[in-house]
Amino acid sequence: MKNTIGVYGLGVMGSNLARNMARNGERVAVYNYTRDLTDAFVSRYAADRIDPHYDLESFVHSLKKPRKILLMVSAGAAVDSVVESLLPLLDSGDVIMDGGNSDFRDSNRRYQALRKRGIHFISVGVSGGEEGALNGPALMPSGDWEAYRQVAPILEKIAARVAGKPCCSYIGPEGSGHYVKMIHNGIEYADMQLIAEAYQFLRERVGLSLGELAEVFRSWNETELKSYLIEITADILSKTDQDTGKPMADVILDKAGQKGTGKWSSQEALNLGVPSTIITEAVFARFLSALKEERVRAEKHLSGPAPSEATWDKEYWIDRVKEALFMGKICAYAQGFYQYKVASESYGWSLNLGEIALIFRGGCIIRADFLNRIYQAFREDGALPNLLLAPYFREKANQYQSSLRQVILKGVEGGLPLPCFSSALSYYDGYRSSRSAANLIQAQRDYFGAHGFERIDRDGLFHAHWLEPDNVTRSVKLK
Ligand code: NDP
Repeated sequence: MKNTIGVYGLGVMGSNLARNMARNGERVAVYNYTRDLTDAFVSRYAADRIDPHYDLESFVHSLKKPRKILLMVSAGAAVDSVVESLLPLLDSGDVIMDGGNSDFRDSNRRYQALRKRGIHFISVGVSGGEEGALNGPALMPSGDWEAYRQVAPILEKIAARVAGKPCCSYIGPEGSGHYVKMIHNGIEYADMQLIAEAYQFLRERVGLSLGELAEVFRSWNETELKSYLIEITADILSKTDQDTGKPMADVILDKAGQKGTGKWSSQEALNLGVPSTIITEAVFARFLSALKEERVRAEKHLSGPAPSEATWDKEYWIDRVKEALFMGKICAYAQGFYQYKVASESYGWSLNLGEIALIFRGGCIIRADFLNRIYQAFREDGALPNLLLAPYFREKANQYQSSLRQVILKGVEGGLPLPCFSSALSYYDGYRSSRSAANLIQAQRDYFGAHGFERIDRDGLFHAHWLEPDNVTRSVKLK
């Protein structure tokens, strides 16, 4: 009997996805380009319906036509070289899926190149890490709709489910699935940094112990903040290091790592000209954290505010921080979903923003109850310009903006960096202001570079004669 799917790449994700597929009734051929991982996989997970291969040709030939192959290899050049090695063995109509965290531009390129060869290429954003891959990830597949229909039964079967619905739906053409995954990761960066700022504020300003903090996060997980990241934060803060007996959080070096998808989200925001400031601050915060040695040195030389003896009303500030965190989260998701909207228009993808929120409800790292509200907001108004304007989020923002302000003020007063909280508030205040300071910027640009400006009282592009001695300035219409 032929295998129904092939998984190429038996690293952390590939092996668990293969096991997930087999458990769900697929006959899975597996292959890794070096023997070792296949050997390790076979010895640990030998199971019915899993058919290991050490030879690429026999792997491909073991598959039922049209063949379906999921690549789970490191993103970048590895994907190209694997695709090249597969091509001579494939037939027109076969489907290659890339489940790695590939750059969406690479995915667009691969999609077009493979199309010319008669091979379908599906980009599959996969979220949920090792555990999600095994028990149900969130999946974001894109490419040709017809090709997607061929693999949909398998993908939908292995995906996480929420309220009976699989966390997997067709995203759109080309590499849009990888785009959606990239911004998902950017939002994840922002979410994590906001949580880290809430933790630091409550610990260092309000003076909560780690035990109290774990309890606070646990209680927040019973509220509108309920989410996987809040849940694991409570768990992390309760753990003790076996070797030293110290709290686990305190033995971990404060240098954040990254694999690049947050940075890509920000670079893409700059390319599109969208203000995804909170995601970008979260990326920068990780860069700054990585300068540990310099920070240690700088602490000895650079001063901040004098330590305060103020006493804190713990209950009051726990509530303020909770609201500030929720407010920051609303702004971060508003930015991420706005980036989806602009990308969808710019690239002609027709992304369904409500469906994307539904995919994120299960399996993935940013899964949260909150996503139902996002789905609802886009279902009620498909043309919603910004989540902040949806009735639920507008009401919450109006209620909580004051808490965000109070927390930032107290943080700044105590010399605490709150990059994402501050960025969220600046974005909120900027977005809700009908009049910005950009009139002055336009005047400066016209003064030094004759770039022209629009006027508020008539149409056209104007240039002012700034250097005339008189203080009364003439503007002339350029266009
Ligand atoms: P691993 O490092 O565990 O596995 C990488 C796999 O790629 C291995 O099977 C490796 O084989 C293979 N590989 C590397 N270079 C080549 C090459 N030139 N040719 C063929 N195969 C190659 O990574 P993960 O399983 O964690 O990740 C796989 C992909 O999934 C990545 O793109 C990652 O970003 C993405 N991803 C990861 C998530 C996670 O939480 N880990 C979540 C979602 C997506 P070998 O070891 O033999 O070199």
